[in-house]
Amino acid sequence: AVPGAAPQPPRSGSLTQVRVEAPGKVNLFLSAGVPGPDGYHPLTTVFQAVRLIETVTARRQAADLRGTITLTLAEPDPTVPTDATNLAVRAAALLAETTGVGDGVDLLLRKRVPVAGGMAGGSADAAAALVACNALWGTALTQAELSGLAAELGADVPFPLHGATAVGHGRGDRLTPLLARGTYHWVFATSAQGLSTPAVFRRFDELTPVAAAPADVPAALTAALRDGDTAALAAALHNDLQPAALDLRPQLAEVIALAESAGALRAIVSGSGPTIAALAPDPTTAAAVANALNASGLVAGALRADAPIAGARMVG
Ligand code: ATP
Repeated sequence: AVPGAAPQPPRSGSLTQVRVEAPGKVNLFLSAGVPGPDGYHPLTTVFQAVRLIETVTARRQAADLRGTITLTLAEPDPTVPTDATNLAVRAAALLAETTGVGDGVDLLLRKRVPVAGGMAGGSADAAAALVACNALWGTALTQAELSGLAAELGADVPFPLHGATAVGHGRGDRLTPLLARGTYHWVFATSAQGLSTPAVFRRFDELTPVAAAPADVPAALTAALRDGDTAALAAALHNDLQPAALDLRPQLAEVIALAESAGALRAIVSGSGPTIAALAPDPTTAAAVANALNASGLVAGALRADAPIAGARMVG
């Protein structure tokens, strides 16, 4: 529930359709500590929002169908559920429950973030659905209230609502904005088969012998972002989950080596993987890295995206 919110009569906006875009993310830094009693790993992470954009269109339902939440994929994908387990549907349901709105909604979802790739595509869909339904239903929750609902839906949901570049503490859901100058040119190498985030964390626990708290964000990384220094940022990229992801998927080491030999300043596992994030010095080199990855046969695809970009926002 929204903290401190007084009970309000259900409202209904006057819009018939709202379109919202939300970004995928890359983790520039990720340090994980030992799990607490709740089973969650305490994290220090730096998120950056990348121009791989999820689009959720929320449509008012015909009067005779009112009250349900439905979801349709713009392009069919058997790996994405369309039932109540879809994160966008869960987000709409949580907003409806919190505000008492019983209108229902038809959601149309267009995905551009690789599924189960460690780039929080599902979380971006949830963030987009919150913003879209909040406008469609006229519920007018504040950004802070939406952020609270986002954290209930999942640790990675507040960030796509926020966008840009930010430090995440706790489970990654407590955000502090970080100044980042300039534009960064990323290439994302995708895998045909996803990696399960819990499985990567289990392997991380097995491979990490010493109990420790998560590390702080290195000063070199914040300085690189503040100065817009791509080479210094490349040198400061770090992911504690990389050894676990490489252990579960040894071929990813070849993808990293290939991206770096094709001109990337650094390539690392993105989040819990299996997507590899390669940072290029300029757009021309990014194109060369993408071509080399596509030609190698080692990856399912290579997606170029610049960053940082804004968080979930209405575009129509
Ligand atoms: P994270 O980095 O937050 O752990 P991810 O980017 O690795 O997530 P997602 O693409 O969000 O992974 O999806 C992971 C799984 O969640 C999918 O395999 C799918 O079964 C389920 N899922 C639920 N809702 C969605 C959604 N809207 N889009 C994609 N997958 C979803």
